[in-house]
Amino acid sequence: MSWHYEAPLASMRRVMEQVLNAPAHWAECPAFAELDMDTADAVLQEAARFASEVLQPLNGTGDLAGCTRAADGAVQTPPGFPAAYQAFVQGGWPALPCDPAWGGQGLPLLLDAAMREMLDACNHGWNMYPDLLHGAYETLKHHGSDELKARYLHKIASGEWLAAMALTEPQAGSDLGQLRTRAESQADGSLRVSGNKIFISGGDHDLTDNIVHLVLCRLPDAPPGTKGLSLALVPKVLPDGSRNAVHCDGIEKKMGIKASATCAMRYEGATGWLVGEPHRGLAAMFLMMNSARLHVGLQGLGHQEMAAQNAQRYAEERAQMGRPIAQHPAVRRSLQRLRTYTEAQRVLAYRAALALDLADHHRDDAVRTRERRFAALLTPVVKAFCTHHGFHGPAEALGIWGGYGYVHEYGIEQTVRDARIAMIYEGTNQIQAIDLAQRKLLADGGAAAGELLASLQAEVGDAPALNALLGEARSLLPRWLARGAGDTAFVLETADDLLHGLAFALLAWAVARLDAAGEAHTAVFAREGVPEGLMHWWRLRDALEL
Ligand SMILES: Cc1cc2nc3c(=O)[nH]c(=O)nc-3n(C[C@H](O)[C@H](O)[C@H](O)COP(=O)(O)OP(=O)(O)OC[C@H]3O[C@@H](n4cnc5c(N)ncnc54)[C@H](O)[C@@H]3O)c2cc1C
Repeated sequence: MSWHYEAPLASMRRVMEQVLNAPAHWAECPAFAELDMDTADAVLQEAARFASEVLQPLNGTGDLAGCTRAADGAVQTPPGFPAAYQAFVQGGWPALPCDPAWGGQGLPLLLDAAMREMLDACNHGWNMYPDLLHGAYETLKHHGSDELKARYLHKIASGEWLAAMALTEPQAGSDLGQLRTRAESQADGSLRVSGNKIFISGGDHDLTDNIVHLVLCRLPDAPPGTKGLSLALVPKVLPDGSRNAVHCDGIEKKMGIKASATCAMRYEGATGWLVGEPHRGLAAMFLMMNSARLHVGLQGLGHQEMAAQNAQRYAEERAQMGRPIAQHPAVRRSLQRLRTYTEAQRVLAYRAALALDLADHHRDDAVRTRERRFAALLTPVVKAFCTHHGFHGPAEALGIWGGYGYVHEYGIEQTVRDARIAMIYEGTNQIQAIDLAQRKLLADGGAAAGELLASLQAEVGDAPALNALLGEARSLLPRWLARGAGDTAFVLETADDLLHGLAFALLAWAVARLDAAGEAHTAVFAREGVPEGLMHWWRLRDALEL
C-alpha cells in the first residue's frame, strides 16, 4: 500500500492523440513535421521512468532533510538531489523544447508539459530548480543581446547552469511597481545591481556551478511604477571565473516544498547586463512568467494525479465494515470526482501548451495569431484553476486515508503541504483572475474568449448538462463585459467567479472530448462539476442583477 507513482501514460497519449489531435497539428508545423505519436510516446516513457524511479524515491527524504547551509553559507540541497540533477542533464531533458540552434531537441512544449506534470507529481521540491530554465531560455532568446545569448543560452538550454527569477522584495510582491532594486550603467556597458530580494526559488544551491539570475531593477532615470522596471542578467559566477557580489542571506523555513531553497538574496553592486530595452523589463519578464505560470498549473495537475491514483489504490485495499472503503458511496464519490477533474484538467493544461506550440510554429499566420490569443487566455485559467484544485483535491483525498492521511509516511500529507504554494507564487490566484478579466477579456472586448467558447461548444454535441454550462458562459460573458467596461470595482469583485466559471465551461468541453475518445466522465461531471461551475455563474448573475 505504499505511496508510489504510475505515470498516466495511456491518459497522456489519449489526450494528445485523440482529444487534441496533436499529431495532425504537428504535421502543420515545419519544426515538428517529423514527429509522430510513437516517438512522442517513447519520450514520455523515458521521462516517466526518470520521474518514478529517480525522483519519487527522493521526495519524502527531501522533505524531511530540507535545504541546509554549509559553514561558509553555501546552500546545500537534500541528499541525492545533485546526482538526480546530473542524470536529468545527461538525459538531455532540460533541452527538450529548446531550439536545436541552441543545443535543444526542438520538441513541442506539449511533450515538455507532460514531462513536467510527471516531475511535479513525483517531486515538486526537486522540480523547482529546473522549472525556471525554459522561461529563462525564452526570455534571453527573445530579448538578450547577441553577446549575452552567445555566453549564456547554450548553458541554460542544456541545463549546465540553472536560472533564478528575482522579482519579489519585502515591500513588493503582487505590486511590482514598488520594487526598489537599483541598477547603474557602467562605462563598459555592464550594470551594477544593488538591492534585496526575498523568496527567490533556487537563488542559491549546489546543483550547478553557476546560477543565472534574472533580476527586475530600476535604472536611475526610471519613471515610477511598473513602467520603470528593467531586467538584468546577473550571474553568480562572472565570465572571468570570479564570484559576483550575489549573496544568499538565508533560506526560508516553510510549510511545503522544503527541498526547494527559497532564498533571501542580496545583490551588492553585482555585475549584470541589461536584457531587452531599458524600462521594458516587465514585458521581457512576462515571457518567463507566462512559461512559469503554465508550469505552475502543471504542478497542480501533477499533485491531483498523485493523490487520485494513490487514494484509489488505498481505498481498494483498505476494508472497513466488511468491504473495501472504495465501495462506500461517499468514498467512491470522492474518488470519481478526483479522477474526472484530473483527467479534464489534463486536457485543459495540454491545450494551453499546444496553443503555445501552434502560436510559434504553425505554418499559417492566421492560426498562429488565433492560438497566441488562446494561449494568453488559457494561461491564467490553467495557473489558477489547476492549482486551486491541485490543493483542494488532495486535501479532500487525504480524508480517504482517515487518520493515516495525517501521518507523514503515507505521502498525502506532504502533497497537501507542497501543493498550497502553487496558489500563491507566480502571481497569486487572485492576480491571475484580475489578469484574465482585465488584460485578456476586457482588452479585446471578449473576442478571443467568444471565439474559443463557440468553437468548443460546437464540439460538445448534445450532452444537456455540459451545454448548460457552456451556454451560461456564452450568454453571461457579453453582459459581464458590457458592465465591466465602465465599472472597475465590479470587475475586481467578480474576477474570481469569472475565472472559475469559465474554467468549468472549458472542462465541460474537455469532458465531452474525453468521452468521445472512449472514456466515461460525463455522468460524474454532470453530478459534480456542472453544479460547481453553475454556482460561479449564478453568483455572476446576482452581481449583474439578472
Ligand atoms: C516558496 C515560495 C517561492 C517563491 N519563489 C519566487 C521566485 O522564485 N521569484 C520571485 O520573485 N518571487 C517568488 N516568490 C514570491 C511570490 O511570487 C509572492 O509571494 C507572491 O507573488 C505574493 O506576493 P506577497 O507575498 O508579497 O503577497 P501580497 O502581494 O502582499 O498579497 C497578499 C494577499 O493580497 C492579495 N492581493 C494583493 N494585491 C491584490 C490585488 N490587487 N487584488 C486582489 N488581491 C490582491 C493577494 O492575492 C494575497 O492574497 C515565492 C514565494 C514563496 C512563498
